[in-house]
Amino acid sequence: MSDTQFERVALIGLGLIGSSLSHAMRRADMAGHITGHARSPKTRAKAVELGLVDSVHETSADAVRGADLVVLGTPVGTFGAIAGEIGPALAQDAILTDVGSVKAAVVDAVAPHVPQGVHFIPGHPIAGTEESGPESGFAELFDGRWCILTPPDNVDETAYGRLADFWKACGSQVERMDVEHHDLALAITSHLPHLIAYNIVGTAADLEEVTQSEVIKFSAAGFRDFTRIAASDPTMWRDVFLSNREAVLEALGRFTEDLTALQRAIRRGDGDSLFDLFSRTRAIRRKIIDAGQETALPDFGRVGAIHGESDEN
Ligand code: NAP
Repeated sequence: MSDTQFERVALIGLGLIGSSLSHAMRRADMAGHITGHARSPKTRAKAVELGLVDSVHETSADAVRGADLVVLGTPVGTFGAIAGEIGPALAQDAILTDVGSVKAAVVDAVAPHVPQGVHFIPGHPIAGTEESGPESGFAELFDGRWCILTPPDNVDETAYGRLADFWKACGSQVERMDVEHHDLALAITSHLPHLIAYNIVGTAADLEEVTQSEVIKFSAAGFRDFTRIAASDPTMWRDVFLSNREAVLEALGRFTEDLTALQRAIRRGDGDSLFDLFSRTRAIRRKIIDAGQETALPDFGRVGAIHGESDEN
């Protein structure tokens, strides 16, 4: 077996990320055997039907027994309890990782349950969609996206290298970061945008002067781009905000100050300030496109696709 391959991989959680990992592992032939566990019999049965796992288990402890790689892919609020269940069943020298969207809270919840001789290396693939469940996954989800790994200072470098190679074989680029920096960077790039989207969609839905049917009818004016983000899984995002409270509040404080400055510029008719900001933000989008993290197609390539035409031409 090469360094990027594992004999037995356990996926705890078989939703968007877990199922995409299975597809990506199958594509690259990285796992000898994939075992899985999810909370409900329905999801476990679906995972078998879709061929996501070679075996499925009613308990997380049974799923991880004998695995040399274990990936936690459930909502972050469940990690502590699951780590408590699997801790005694983890094999010596196994790598335990996760895909949770926050890191400090995950380390606090999981690390106390990790036995000596098991390498706990937290991770976070910066890839996703607003879909969830075992049917939503696809092999290409991680292609060209970043995966952030936040190893402890005393990490076993061989284990770290194996996990980094694993993510690269899944299509990702890998970045090493410390836990606190991850949480602050993601608060501003991911958590705050989700909060804003949840808020604006909620505000529009509650606005009495504009009817619901108008909100839907005229959504192409900008609103619908927020609705995609605001359709993300409620359990996952509740857990993210509760687990990354400090960093999100810090980012939200900065955001609120900047919003107040914008409010002032509009009230004073200060067009120069508005124009300067909008020019800077347009340049940021250009950089994201140049970095291959977004399509350059107008309207995200949607033109024509909504009316039944293919967006592949
Ligand atoms: P998802 O599609 O909603 O799937 C969650 C999975 O976890 C389901 O299989 C669910 O099983 C299982 N589960 C939930 N509670 C459980 C419990 N107590 N015990 C065992 N299994 C349980 O979620 P996801 O989008 O894949 O997200 C999973 C993780 O990835 C989260 O920690 C999230 O922060 C992280 N993440 C998500 C994204 C994203 O864009 N979605 C991106 C990066 C990282 P049932 O179906 O039986 O309930």
